[in-house]
Amino acid sequence: MNTLSDDLEVAAAFHGETCPGQVLGVRLARAGLAQIGISDPVADRKKLIVFVEIDRCAADAIMAVTGCRVGKRNLKVVDYGVMAATFLNLESGRAVRVVAREESRALAAGYAPGVEGKYEQQRRAYTIMPEKELFSFEEVEVSVPPEDMPGRPLSRVRCESCGDYVQDKREVNAYGTVLCLACARGGYYKRKS
Ligand SMILES: [Zn+2]
Ligand SMILES: [Zn+2]
Repeated sequence: MNTLSDDLEVAAAFHGETCPGQVLGVRLARAGLAQIGISDPVADRKKLIVFVEIDRCAADAIMAVTGCRVGKRNLKVVDYGVMAATFLNLESGRAVRVVAREESRALAAGYAPGVEGKYEQQRRAYTIMPEKELFSFEEVEVSVPPEDMPGRPLSRVRCESCGDYVQDKREVNAYGTVLCLACARGGYYKRKS
C-alpha cells in the first residue's frame, strides 16, 4: 500500500489543492480499500468498483487513490449528497460502505491545537485522526448488473423519438416504443426550437 503522504500528494496533484476534503477523501479511500482487502488498487483494478455518493472534493481524492474512473466504469457516482463511498471487491463479493462521521468535524479542533481556523484545523486533523473517529463502516450487499460492468457495451439501440443511440440498456421501452431517458422522462436540458 502507498503511504498516506504519497496518496495525499497524488490527490493534491489531481484535484489542484490540498483542501480538507482531499485529506478526508484520501483517508476514506484508504480505509475502504483496506476493508475489502485491496492493498494495491492498480494491480487489483479488475477486482474493484467504487460507488461515490457525493460530487465534491472528496470524490476526486477517492478517484486519485483508487485509480477508479468513470470512463473505466469502475467508479460510479451515485449522487446522494452524502460524504460516503462503498468499496466492492468483485472477487470476494465483499462490499463495505464508509461514511464520514459528522462528529469528526467538531473533534478536529482537538487534534490541531494552536491552529487557527476551521479549514486549517480540519486539514491537519484529518491527516492524523484515528479512522474510527473519522468514519463509520457497514458491510453491505451490492450487485452490479452486467450492463454496468466494465467491458464492451452490451447493447445499442436508437431512440424512436430523437434518434440518439443509447448504449447499455439505458433506454426505456414505453408500450413498445424505444425511447432514450431524456425523451421518456424529461432531460436535464431543454431543446431550443
Ligand atoms: Zn477541494
Ligand atoms: Zn430520445
